[in-house]
Amino acid sequence: MDEIKPKVIIIDDEKGLRIGTQRLLQSENFDVDTAENGLTGIKMATDFEYDLAIIDLKMPDVDGITVLKAIKKAHPNTVCFIATAYASYDTAIEATKLGAFTYIPKPFTPEELLRNLNAGYERRLITLETERLKKEREERLLELAFEKSRLNTIVNSLADGVFVVNKNGELVLFNPSAIKYIELNEVILGEKILGILPPIISEQIKKILDNTTFENKTYTAEVELKPERELVVEIKCSPVPHPDGSLAGVVAVIRNITEMKKVEYVKSQFVSMVAHELKTPMAAVLGFLNIILNPEMKVTPEQEHDYMNRSRNRLNGLVEMVNDLLDISRMEMKTKQRELKELNIGEIVKGTVDFLELELKKKGVTVTSKYQDNLPVFKADNNEITRLFTNIIGNSIKYNKDNGTIDVNVFTQGNYIVTKIADTGIGMKPEDKVRLFSEFFRVKNEYTRSISGTGLGLSIVKRIVESYSGKIEVDSEYTKGSTFTIYLPFTK
Ligand code: ADP
Repeated sequence: MDEIKPKVIIIDDEKGLRIGTQRLLQSENFDVDTAENGLTGIKMATDFEYDLAIIDLKMPDVDGITVLKAIKKAHPNTVCFIATAYASYDTAIEATKLGAFTYIPKPFTPEELLRNLNAGYERRLITLETERLKKEREERLLELAFEKSRLNTIVNSLADGVFVVNKNGELVLFNPSAIKYIELNEVILGEKILGILPPIISEQIKKILDNTTFENKTYTAEVELKPERELVVEIKCSPVPHPDGSLAGVVAVIRNITEMKKVEYVKSQFVSMVAHELKTPMAAVLGFLNIILNPEMKVTPEQEHDYMNRSRNRLNGLVEMVNDLLDISRMEMKTKQRELKELNIGEIVKGTVDFLELELKKKGVTVTSKYQDNLPVFKADNNEITRLFTNIIGNSIKYNKDNGTIDVNVFTQGNYIVTKIADTGIGMKPEDKVRLFSEFFRVKNEYTRSISGTGLGLSIVKRIVESYSGKIEVDSEYTKGSTFTIYLPFTK
């Protein structure tokens, strides 16, 4: 490897001294340039950074002090020597003030010169190393500061609330989401907050803080922050360790679980509704059987036949309900395999009307229908679409008046295939319309009393329509009739 040679410039108008010094230094392993006057010296030593500069004080063009100033300005770390035969104490002081390392009185011996230059070079190496370390430290600090601000930004953007308390229960860090959830109006870092927090949250934190040793265990609790399931959060508190393994504090993460809780609630409500709906017909059948089997009741054969018949009707209703429930559950769990085919909605509606001919005849209901020519095809599962129209048209017969009418119209409107089914039936009151598509909802009035059903048909209809990104609307007038309009979007 090449040895690094100190780079020196000799700026002196005295040729003999210049050349002599250059030779001496070259033989001592310095890399030496020379300048024969002050201006050339300035040009060379400012264009390039020399390790060392030997500057003659008195030169005909510019004096050594001007050269020194120029070099120091361009390269503060170049170590400069003022060489002069006429050195006064004052010029020496001035030169050192302006940044010269020292001055060397002329004439100098080789030893004197080398001793000075070596000391100067050593100084330069130390200065450069110190500067390098300083720069490195500054860069590292900058990186750390950047890292810290990036972490802060991340913590502040979390949707989950995060806050940290130290061993004394004082708040040491929090993000905006935490404030949103626990509504601490004026939170101050360093403040004791266990008394301000909702008690159930403080309890979890205390469980950790009461342990003097660090135990890697997370405590979780659900908190209803606003009643009626309006805001429910899950809070997870975990211990924060010191590098030495002792307990430093607690980090708490707050997650909004309101939606999940709402779904859970609806599900449990649904289960209790199903149980209730199943219980009524089963209790009725059990009642009939108890009467028949009780000798004391002395049931006549005609009565027994009547009870059996009623039990069968109730059980039929139950089977129908269970089938509907299974359909709903298959739709919800998406386990039902769909066979998508290009369907003609007009033909399906027409087929459904034909299929229900017997029911129509029983009630003397007549159907008028209009199907737009060249209806676009609709890609869907035939069974589902047939089920949809069977439920709607079935209802328009079931809830119609004797000898009433049904008007069917299938046409396109914008991107939708629209099917309007208008009946002249019993209609419904505005307050009944609101709950029409909920599970088990059945209108209770003098007209519906004798009509059986599960209350699940329209909720199935709604699920099917929505699964095809469609919509359903109802228009109804009590005692006059109802119109159901189904919009199914087709791709052009
Ligand atoms: P179900 O017919 O088995 O009771 P549905 O979910 O199909 O269940 O209908 C829910 C309720 O909506 C019915 O009980 C009835 O009160 C009302 N309803 C549905 N269709 C009509 C209609 N065309 N005319 C009047 N009322 C209707």
